Amino acid sequence: MSWTPTREDFDLYMVPNYSPQRVIPVRGEGSRLWDQEGHEYIDFAGGIAVNGLGHAHPALLAALKAQADKVWHLSNVYTNEPALKLARMLVENTFAEKVFFCSSGGEANEAALKMVRRYAFEKFGEHKNKIISFRQSFHGRTLFTVSVGGQPKYSEGFGPIPGGIHHATFNDLDSVDALIGDDTCAVIVEPVQGEGGVMPANQAFLEGLRERCDRHDALLVFDEVQSGMGRSGSLYAYMDYGVTPDVLTSAKALGGGFPIGAVLTTNDIAAVFQPGTHGSTYGGNPLACAVALAAVETISSPEVLEGVASRHALFRQRLEELSEKHGGLFSEVRGMGLLIGAELSEDFRDRGRDILAASIKEGLMLLVAGPNVLRFAPSLIISEEEVNEGMARLDRALATLKA
Ligand SMILES: *Cc1c(COP(=O)(O)O)cnc(C)c1O
Repeated sequence: MSWTPTREDFDLYMVPNYSPQRVIPVRGEGSRLWDQEGHEYIDFAGGIAVNGLGHAHPALLAALKAQADKVWHLSNVYTNEPALKLARMLVENTFAEKVFFCSSGGEANEAALKMVRRYAFEKFGEHKNKIISFRQSFHGRTLFTVSVGGQPKYSEGFGPIPGGIHHATFNDLDSVDALIGDDTCAVIVEPVQGEGGVMPANQAFLEGLRERCDRHDALLVFDEVQSGMGRSGSLYAYMDYGVTPDVLTSAKALGGGFPIGAVLTTNDIAAVFQPGTHGSTYGGNPLACAVALAAVETISSPEVLEGVASRHALFRQRLEELSEKHGGLFSEVRGMGLLIGAELSEDFRDRGRDILAASIKEGLMLLVAGPNVLRFAPSLIISEEEVNEGMARLDRALATLKA
């Protein structure tokens, strides 16, 4: 018998660790989605920076369908062609010489953190185990990654948490100097803090981290789970800064909606992971890698990357117009490429979730990053018409909030 689930079923059957909106989208195409009743939405959220090429992109669909007819899963007892092709693609287009695959961003960071600890252990000894990360940072939900992350609410109540982790202040090199030393094994940073409010790193900050890591034989890890895969206008944001990390983690848009994560690093560092040291059942899964290969090929094309800057400019212009029209709504519009944050001004404090709910009623999907920042992470190939239509809907949503 056919049965159509509703939002009430979420409360009946699912662990209540999310609080989803009422509408249930059932179909997507490009930057539009449709719900169970056939209502249409413009997608400015992109599945939280995952649907980098929108929904049902033809290249990704073709790759998924072709691989589905061949082989879905093998385990790492065998290697497979899609994983090898994707690894080569990433090596040829980045600083990396070696790639490790897994299934999510948190898992990629978990692997990266274990890798830097192990590297320091083998090269320098057990005393070199200190990890420096930043307040407001987000690195995933495993116990290690919530502990390294800079938002205490995510590790609260899960103790005892792993030790040797210290938090400095983002964009503040003095706070790093107060912590870093020869016992530091790594510094981990998001080039653009995503969950923490869409906060780009300063040029001098990332350059300063590189210099300090070199001075103390510490490894520099860039968490590009959100900032990577074209969102900055380059394949990875480190390229825009011209600061090269030792280890880089990637996920979210890497699979364009299919779960996959990756750790990119050098030959020297990769060598600490020998057979048995670390692993992942689904890591390098052929289905995931086939889709990700299509995603990386498409995103790294000049047409896609070069289109990010003009879309950024359009978003910024429209947001500034809306801010002016609605009584100074935003105190700042910031971000890189198509990872944009609009900070609500004093008069609109803590209204982020209200704006999100009002927008859905007008047919627009938005994100927040904390209570006071509207976050935009749309498809990298969203059309000008869709941006304008989405902004018109946001305008209407803001008007209903004021009424
Ligand atoms: C989303 C995110 C993660 C976690 O990724 P998951 O796939 O949810 O495990 C880690 N780091 C950053 C910067 C992220 O934005």
